[in-house]
Amino acid sequence: MLNKTKVVATIGPATIEKDQIRRMMENGLDVVRVNMSHADYNFCREVVKNVNELNDELGLNVALLMDLMGPEVRIGRFMNGRAHFYKGDKVKVYMDDTLGDNTKFSVNYPNLINEINYNDTLMVKDGQMAMEVVDVLTDFFVCEVLNDAVIDDCQTISIKGRKINCPYLTNKDQSDIVMAHKLNFDFIALSYVSEAANVLSVNDMLINLKNNHIGLISKIETEDGVNNIDDIIRVSDGIMVARGDLGVAITLERIPGVQKKIINKCHEAGIVSIVATELLSSMEHASTPTRAEVSDVANAVLDGADAVMLSGETTTGKYPIETLKMMEKIINSAEMDVDYADFITRSSNSVKEDITGIISLNVADAANRLKCCAIIAPTNTGYTARMMSRFRPSCPVIAVSPNVDTVKSLQLHFAVTPVLIDELNSFDKIIEVSKKLTFKLISTKAGDKIIITGGYPFKEIKYTNFMKIEEL
Ligand code: PGA
Ligand code: MN
Repeated sequence: MLNKTKVVATIGPATIEKDQIRRMMENGLDVVRVNMSHADYNFCREVVKNVNELNDELGLNVALLMDLMGPEVRIGRFMNGRAHFYKGDKVKVYMDDTLGDNTKFSVNYPNLINEINYNDTLMVKDGQMAMEVVDVLTDFFVCEVLNDAVIDDCQTISIKGRKINCPYLTNKDQSDIVMAHKLNFDFIALSYVSEAANVLSVNDMLINLKNNHIGLISKIETEDGVNNIDDIIRVSDGIMVARGDLGVAITLERIPGVQKKIINKCHEAGIVSIVATELLSSMEHASTPTRAEVSDVANAVLDGADAVMLSGETTTGKYPIETLKMMEKIINSAEMDVDYADFITRSSNSVKEDITGIISLNVADAANRLKCCAIIAPTNTGYTARMMSRFRPSCPVIAVSPNVDTVKSLQLHFAVTPVLIDELNSFDKIIEVSKKLTFKLISTKAGDKIIITGGYPFKEIKYTNFMKIEEL
């Protein structure tokens, strides 16, 4: 059975070897993520090379997602990679790249010195160390440490109760976007999006690069992001519920409710949603997850998320392959309990009543009622497949396209299994290819039904105008 909920996994030291990536791809990995808060360009190139080679070897089209570091203000490096601070210590904070120790460190945002005030409390590493500003000089300011802490290189620093006004697109993010363009990434995830303008600034960069392929995923991990979600959805191709930082920005107990609301809004708007962080985090150290984690993954599926994401489990965890297998098993089981009829009802309320909308609605409904084993959607731009995904049919949607960019852009969409094929030029050919692919990808029996839907004549018609039901 083809799983419908997609799996994104982050590559790190534990999984950079080609053979590890191969095993992940053989166990249901749909999208490979590189986290630019940690990866350098050599690492990026190696991931891209491995994934491209494996796509060729395995006949797959796993997509690539680059996750930007975002406008975080971070401290610099320490002499020994870390420093011990004790309550009452005085620490000088420099605006250049001074190497740190237990008396001083630097920050990557030179204007911070103009934004802080006496008596401000600064929080390092998500609040693990608090410091109070006690003196401000020309090149540095001085803080008094409020609690004992060990701080590693490059941890985040923030002002308690106030936003730091650094520009959204940092120099690093801009170079990383150019790199994503050069290496042919399919998606970019934007960290700490707080308003639609942040997304539009990245979009402008892509327009200047003449890149109309990369899809933009906005990560919701700030209070402003939560409050401006409707505007952000309007300008994004997808949303990531980034529960790691979101749990720091708002209270932990708000996360489940916010997650459900965001997934529903994405679904209504017809864009993808990804649930991220700590889904199976105990598997970083253990070969089985907790009951609560199994429940968390299953609930993301039942809520209607398009994709779930692994981070620490596959970057540094001890059991990356076991984690992927477990993820697939939980997804598979949860998908049997999804209320597909309810999803169709909900989507039909927001669907545009044009020819494509009405055909797609009826294809999904017919597929559920006739218990079809697949919907086959030939598509040039991906439009038909995205429409089908919105209706959350109970069977897989096999999207066939001669365009490799289209195929990869569909990897995050619920239910869609995108397949690269040769150009189709007749209706008979499409029926033949559809049957062949169904036999190849799904275990079928005589009498099983498939629905083929798309726009015909291909290339001439830009919308979905037919459905054809075939018995195998
Ligand atoms: P990160 O984003 O892993 O880049 O921090 C995800 C999250 O915050 O949950
Ligand atoms: Mn984050």
